[in-house]
Amino acid sequence: MVYDIIIIGGGPGGLAAAIYATRYEMKALLIAKAMGGELATAPMVDNYPGFPGMTGYDLMKKIEDHAKSFKVEIKAEEAIGITKNGAFKVKTAKEEYEAKAIVLVTGSERRKLKVPGEEELMGKGVSYCATCDGALFKGAVVGVVGGSDSAAKEALLLAEYAKKVYIIYRKPEIRAEPATKKLVYANPKIEIINNANVVKINGEKMLESVDLDTGKNMKLEGLFIEIGGIPASDLAEKLGAKLNEKLEVVINEDCETNVPGLFAAGDVTPVWKQAIVAAGYGSIAAYSAYNYIKSLEAK
Ligand SMILES: Cc1cc2nc3c(=O)[nH]c(=O)nc-3n(C[C@H](O)[C@H](O)[C@H](O)COP(=O)(O)OP(=O)(O)OC[C@H]3O[C@@H](n4cnc5c(N)ncnc54)[C@H](O)[C@@H]3O)c2cc1C
Repeated sequence: MVYDIIIIGGGPGGLAAAIYATRYEMKALLIAKAMGGELATAPMVDNYPGFPGMTGYDLMKKIEDHAKSFKVEIKAEEAIGITKNGAFKVKTAKEEYEAKAIVLVTGSERRKLKVPGEEELMGKGVSYCATCDGALFKGAVVGVVGGSDSAAKEALLLAEYAKKVYIIYRKPEIRAEPATKKLVYANPKIEIINNANVVKINGEKMLESVDLDTGKNMKLEGLFIEIGGIPASDLAEKLGAKLNEKLEVVINEDCETNVPGLFAAGDVTPVWKQAIVAAGYGSIAAYSAYNYIKSLEAK
């Protein structure tokens, strides 16, 4: 069977694309490694219109249920290759699927610190997700590396469990949204260490301490690394799509890439990394894919 559209990604961008694709009565398939995407790991989402004060997991479950109510076909698989020879072929470990157009909404992967001890102590005190692991650190002293809004939110969540939370940031001031900053500054459990980088993570079996480039050694039981992501753009690149210097897939305002029939949206592209933006662009990508398919049929 040839699908009209294959959407790769099950985050806000992919699910919004699926909702629009099915409303346009396209034969749509959504392929995702992990449903819910990055937002499902967000401790608290307060800026998605219509759904104030929800956990990312609950919000994504709502969006997933919405998409499923339109009977979108979903495969929990990883796309490992895409080729184009007239139609597109998307390969997974199990199957090969064919479509007239592709919407790529693969998001980005967490960035690593790349310091000694990080790999060895991953899952042994070193984590990339406070939502997933925060509850394991009740009464502990933990650190968060990073100064973004996401990092500040991770620190706020961790402060609900931990005795003390240090935010370790390389610049003079954290760059979280003003509302998040206020909460961080007002939280007596959180202390910010500016102008510092973690250069080594120490521990025999479990994390014991970290070395900073200021010369300080900090005793920590948990270290949460929240320093952004690397766009999952390799599938697009192999297909000949143009990437920018940050390895994001270059799109125009209609979410078209330079490869006809390949559309991209959300965090894998150079747009603002926010769920509502990913959902908005996901809907544009689906609409553009619909117009592309109509133009093929008119030929
Ligand atoms: C801790 C944290 C807190 C955040 N808080 C907020 C917030 O409060 N408000 C807000 O608006 N945004 C927030 N964000 C950002 C938001 O999560 C992202 O902007 C949004 O999820 C991007 O959506 P997306 O659909 O582009 O990608 P993602 O949500 O990253 O989804 C990518 C999808 O693609 C799938 N995928 C990737 N590669 C493949 C492949 N090869 N084959 C199959 N599937 C694949 C993944 O499994 C996933 O389903 C937060 C992020 C984090 C990490």
